Amino acid sequence: MGGARERAMVLEETAAKVRECTLCRLHRGRTRAVPGEGPIDADVFLIGEAPGREEDAIGRPFVGSAGKVLNKALAAAHLSRKDVFITNVVKCRPPANRAPKTDEIEACRPYLRSQIEAVRPKVLVTLGSTALRGLLGPGPRLSEARGNDLAFDGIPVRSMYHPAAVLYNRRLEVALRTDLREVARRVLGKPARIRSTSPRVGKPVRPGRSAGAAVMNPEGRVLLLRKAGEAIWCLPKGTLEPGETIEETAVREVREETGLRVKLHRPLTEVRYAFYWPPDGVNVDKTVAYFLATPIGGRVKPEPGFDEGRWVSRRQAMELLHWPNDREVVARAFDAMPSLRIIGRKRGSSRGATRSGHRSL
Ligand code: URA
Ligand code: SF4
Repeated sequence: MGGARERAMVLEETAAKVRECTLCRLHRGRTRAVPGEGPIDADVFLIGEAPGREEDAIGRPFVGSAGKVLNKALAAAHLSRKDVFITNVVKCRPPANRAPKTDEIEACRPYLRSQIEAVRPKVLVTLGSTALRGLLGPGPRLSEARGNDLAFDGIPVRSMYHPAAVLYNRRLEVALRTDLREVARRVLGKPARIRSTSPRVGKPVRPGRSAGAAVMNPEGRVLLLRKAGEAIWCLPKGTLEPGETIEETAVREVREETGLRVKLHRPLTEVRYAFYWPPDGVNVDKTVAYFLATPIGGRVKPEPGFDEGRWVSRRQAMELLHWPNDREVVARAFDAMPSLRIIGRKRGSSRGATRSGHRSL
């Protein structure tokens, strides 16, 4: 096949044929066929099982709850959904979302094959065991195929869990994200993320204010987050937004990064450090205010960019935390715990304690 324009035309023709297709029984129950979508020059080509209810209703792949999981996993891998091609082994919704049958997969396979030939991706990603079987036929099981390099027409195939399976099992979610990150990193040669470096002489300096928290649970454990990609454990923190107080930033960042709503009890310390930030060409002179906090709602659900949140003891925190600054903050948090218990017991006094804590910053 020739240039990008001809290949794009083939892709469009395939989609048109799919929309009219009656080659297997699945056409009878469909509202809309779901050919798939994505750019002609996509490096990553994702293959799911079959359209579900939402997909059938609007004619686009992975737009329901599995799609949300997939979008998050892609974001965590620094892959943009608009840069990847997404389709399924069968293009029409099976009745009551049953798994597609072998003859349906066979009938639909030529469409998948033309799409792959048109896009010529650098890597094919199968999501779930049906997709794996749909692409490569009966053969490798998902548990064996995962993490191994298989190939289809000379294109490497990576087999991953299906995002719908992830909805019921958080372990699998971590695995899916890890696998996608590896695709992003290895196959596309993308750096996991932009890294800051030591300050550079002669570069302009920009001040930066951030806030974060050591969140302690009633069992006396502190919440750490692990940064995906770098595998570094740290405390939740983030940058002040316009109009925010430092306390509001701490509460918001903890909520966004960990999923927990927290109450702040008192400031712990302010740490200061400098680094060079390549995208802006400046040295950032950063001050981070840390607070002692306790959860008042929500549940631990780290945002994309983090692959795990864990409640740990003081000793574990000292072992896991990457930055000396964070270890210092946690040490102070544990030292402050006895006073926190007293505050917690006296009803009504905690708000006052919170406020006076803030003022003493
Ligand atoms: N599950 C799939 O396998 N494909 C979709 O498009 C949506 C959910
Ligand atoms: Fe045609 Fe595939 Fe739909 Fe079957 S599932 S009717 S083969 S497009």
